[in-house]
Amino acid sequence: MPEDLSIEQETAIQRSAEAVLDEAIAFLQGMIRIPTINPPGDAYPACAQYIGERLQNLGYAVEYLPLTSAEVAELAPYGESLPRTNVIGRLPGAQTPPVLHFNGHMDVVPVGPGWSTDPFGGAVRNGRIFGRGASDMKGGLAAQIYAIEAIRRAGFHLHGTVEQSGVVDEESTGNRNAGMGFLVERGYIHPDKTNYVVITEPLNSDNICLGHRGAIWGEITTFGRQSHGSTPERGVNAIEHMADFIAEATHTLLPSLRQRVNSVPVVPSSASTASLAFNTIQGGTNINSVPERCTVSFDRRLVMGEQITEARREILDLLERRVTAQPDFRYEYAERYAANPTWVRADTPLVQAFTAAIHTVVGHAPGYVCSPGTDDQRFVVQNAGIEQCIVYGPGEIIQTHVIDESLSIADLLTSIKVMALAAASLLGID
Ligand SMILES: [Zn+2]
Repeated sequence: MPEDLSIEQETAIQRSAEAVLDEAIAFLQGMIRIPTINPPGDAYPACAQYIGERLQNLGYAVEYLPLTSAEVAELAPYGESLPRTNVIGRLPGAQTPPVLHFNGHMDVVPVGPGWSTDPFGGAVRNGRIFGRGASDMKGGLAAQIYAIEAIRRAGFHLHGTVEQSGVVDEESTGNRNAGMGFLVERGYIHPDKTNYVVITEPLNSDNICLGHRGAIWGEITTFGRQSHGSTPERGVNAIEHMADFIAEATHTLLPSLRQRVNSVPVVPSSASTASLAFNTIQGGTNINSVPERCTVSFDRRLVMGEQITEARREILDLLERRVTAQPDFRYEYAERYAANPTWVRADTPLVQAFTAAIHTVVGHAPGYVCSPGTDDQRFVVQNAGIEQCIVYGPGEIIQTHVIDESLSIADLLTSIKVMALAAASLLGID
């Protein structure tokens, strides 16, 4: 069970967090300046090395985990064969267990036009750090490392062991992947040796995220028969078939999905129901030929209590209904990614330690929330079978994937304090 810290210990650790803040900001700025854009996955080895060198300077035993090109081809099929390297630092305590593993992903989503500042500059303005990844989630990586520094520089020794990992390819998801999925598959994170896992994604620094919704990403193709555009009656129009399917999905399935509300609060609350969206469409070759194929991609989000097998069945049933209604309706269904919702209990030492720390630092009880999208927690909870895994980090979720992404420095400090107090309590200090 987590140890109670004395008031003196808590005060010393919080003061120490304030003292390491400038160093954490500088470290974060340096990380933002490495453009780890995914897709396709640029500059991963440079960023892994940047994190690894810092951990090494702080006294960690550092291990780099570069994937072979065969592993890259298998685990990062959309990664244009670019190199993938993860990094883990280990700081052994006087006793093991417990082992507390902090994790962050170093990849960031691409940058569109319209930024008012260099997205890879890390400028500080009005109490905020600007740049792609400031919130999602290089800020989390900086906070997790400097939270442990706050404890150590306050003069305390940690009893348990700390691990810090920086991984690739969170943003590109996958049923398996080259980042957190790889760490779990290779046993770097394993229930026999990992007690607690904290993923430092941004969901507001006074929330503890206990899970995420589920998702199915896939493609549906309808098939027709080409004919000259002047004689459409001689062909079968694949785009018209797709239009019929989308209309049916919109009028029959979508209203029932909107009735399914997540049983725990989602941040943002607008994402509280199940959803289905058709987000790309391709079909036809030229204006005067009846198209023989049309493909849409769909993004189905599942709320707590839904399962991918049933969500998949609902879509397939709709397609089969079209076949019954139109005998020349032919289709193909393919999935690219599917993840069940994840949710962990709140009555565990890990969640209770973070709850107490948020109380101390922020002055009120944390929200227990659910992330609208999937994240790397699924690999730890579903694949490794580690129940004590939460998402907690600096930054607001509304700052993710946006133009002029930024992170509040006050928020960064809050999360460093919270993580430091929770880590000290979970691992024990003297
Ligand atoms: Zn993220």
